[in-house]
Amino acid sequence: MLNVVLFGPPGAGKGTQSEILLQRYGLVHLSTGDIFRYNIKNSTELGLQAKAFMDKGELVPDSLTISMLESEVVKHAHAKGFIFDGFPRTSAQAEALDTFLAGRGTGITCMLALEVGEEELIKRLLNRASTSGRADDADESIVRNRIAVYNRETAPVAGYYQALGKYCGVAGVGTVEEITSRLCAELDAFV
Ligand code: ADP
Repeated sequence: MLNVVLFGPPGAGKGTQSEILLQRYGLVHLSTGDIFRYNIKNSTELGLQAKAFMDKGELVPDSLTISMLESEVVKHAHAKGFIFDGFPRTSAQAEALDTFLAGRGTGITCMLALEVGEEELIKRLLNRASTSGRADDADESIVRNRIAVYNRETAPVAGYYQALGKYCGVAGVGTVEEITSRLCAELDAFV
């Protein structure tokens, strides 16, 4: 299997690049943010629980997020591989994912990390608010909190994959096509 963690701060372009990569490599795209938003829209119990955290730009608790992600993976028994977008976002999630995938006889192939400066991220997210309709994009203080949470809780996850020799950093600025080419160049080394 080809299992890719597409990593980077909010606004780095993970969603955009995931859509392109999943077609090119025939992978299943699992975005924890999208799955939470789907649950909120449909007023599920999970959605209600997640909403309180997402509205503030905080992380949804690990226990909820991990069990939700695992049940999504199980739904795609015949997948050639996955793009994990927005997961893992904490060290506990990274460890849980490894254990879970090992139990299924597979593992993470690599982490592709999109690197983008902080002021550019804030500009992109506030811009995206007009089309995404996401309340967490529209308010600059929530946007800044998401980036602070990223720096504090999520950035260390890169070190986890670095230690395993699976980390590939890619410049996340330029045109969408330029960034896709950089990601594919890294990924093709593993295919
Ligand atoms: P972005 O990358 O732009 O912040 P996402 O759609 O990935 O957008 O995430 C939106 C929100 O969903 C996050 O701020 C967080 O509240 C929640 N979320 C998404 N993925 C996770 C995760 N793996 N762990 C905890 N919370 C998550």
